[in-house]
Amino acid sequence: MILKSERTPAFREDLCTKCGICFNKCPVLELPLEEAKEEINRLIEGDKSRFVLWRCNTCFSCNLYCPENANPYQLILERWNDLYYKRGVPPLYTFVCPTREGNIWQLLNVFLSTQEKRWILTWMNNQPKSKDEVLLIGNYTHLFPFIIGGSKILEYFKPVDLIDQWEGGAYLYQGGYLDVVEKIARRTKKDFDKWETSKIVAALDAVQYIFQDVHSRELNIKHSQSFSSLQQWLLEKIESKELQLEKQLHMTVTVHDNCYSKVLGGKYWESARTILKKCGCKIIEMEHHKKDSLCCGFGAGASWIRNISIPFDILHEGIKKFQEAERTGAKALISYCTGCIYLLWATKELLNSKIELFHLIEIVRMAMGESLDYPSAHKKRAWDIIAIITYEWLVSLFKPSFFITKITFDQKRSTFYTKNHYLLRIIRMLFNSSLMKKLYRKLFMILIKMLNTR
Ligand code: SF4
Ligand code: SF4
Repeated sequence: MILKSERTPAFREDLCTKCGICFNKCPVLELPLEEAKEEINRLIEGDKSRFVLWRCNTCFSCNLYCPENANPYQLILERWNDLYYKRGVPPLYTFVCPTREGNIWQLLNVFLSTQEKRWILTWMNNQPKSKDEVLLIGNYTHLFPFIIGGSKILEYFKPVDLIDQWEGGAYLYQGGYLDVVEKIARRTKKDFDKWETSKIVAALDAVQYIFQDVHSRELNIKHSQSFSSLQQWLLEKIESKELQLEKQLHMTVTVHDNCYSKVLGGKYWESARTILKKCGCKIIEMEHHKKDSLCCGFGAGASWIRNISIPFDILHEGIKKFQEAERTGAKALISYCTGCIYLLWATKELLNSKIELFHLIEIVRMAMGESLDYPSAHKKRAWDIIAIITYEWLVSLFKPSFFITKITFDQKRSTFYTKNHYLLRIIRMLFNSSLMKKLYRKLFMILIKMLNTR
């Protein structure tokens, strides 16, 4: 039995004039104004949604379009939370549930290099002391430890990587699993109180926002630490010259603004751009950027209709991002979110897109004079992840929906205790062949046409 909680809903019905501007301006829905007005009424009344709950990409933009600051995005999350109690989560969501067998972190152990495992084990076993400045590596950076592993940047921190902190609930919040996020917030508070640290830096801006704002404002759970994002930290250290940039990169780049970057008045947009300029990058903006930025595709999974369609809905949206990025003529697409990076790299490989793709941390490291295993490490990881998604998708076709009841994992069955997963290994082995990659790309495009629900 799952009980609903007493959260403080962030949607301000008292401020909403039902003008429909939010869904009319939405870059995904673009509903005619009258239709948009009807849809907001339906959502407020809890009636069956015709558009938003089935097509929203969780991009956050409607909150910025609303002239009354009523937070329509949080109304969508509330209605998805209601839906959760009716239909659970799709079986494919096992992928991102660290407490379920067969999640991505567990399956990825099959492919991690020895060096990557060493980094991760150190981060997972670190016990912060009161004077330590903690860097939360988080679930997504865990998938790409080479982005930051071995860098001088880590010498400033005690890096901690706890997969069952679920990035503070950031990606579940985006899917509207609000009551589960509340449980996660309580669990993370216990961890933080044990550590007795006063400063926590999150690798993702989304995670900083969740801990600092969502937990306290919407869930009434107050942490006693101060939170900042790695991006802010990098900018401060570069400006104070504590981090020395040894060279200018002379690259033209375009910037992917992730969905969470739109919170707090878009405070993350400029710091990422300032860092890029300091590293010698010239920025060419995409048609949709900052407040209008399109999602990397992940959000399409939140408004799922059929389990079978989820990967194809996600890729369908990710393609739009690459089309816009390629149209700029920039040499590289830059993301400052590792959550987006793993999907963007998988999408890039499936599209065989020629535009380079970096995380902001990698740009800083190159400017610092550090060497990267680029693009080999990313290409390999992208196909590891494509193999895992394929495997999970096949397995999920035979499984029912479920409810997320377990927040903390059993250490004995934690991320490093994995089975042999022969089918997964075979799928990944097939992707070592260029011909198989080519055929799979074609197959994926056919399946997008057949199965996507967008
Ligand atoms: S949430 Fe804002 S933009 Fe949307 S209908 Fe209400 S007042 Fe208008
Ligand atoms: S979150 Fe983005 S996609 Fe969803 S309704 Fe708002 S603007 Fe549209």
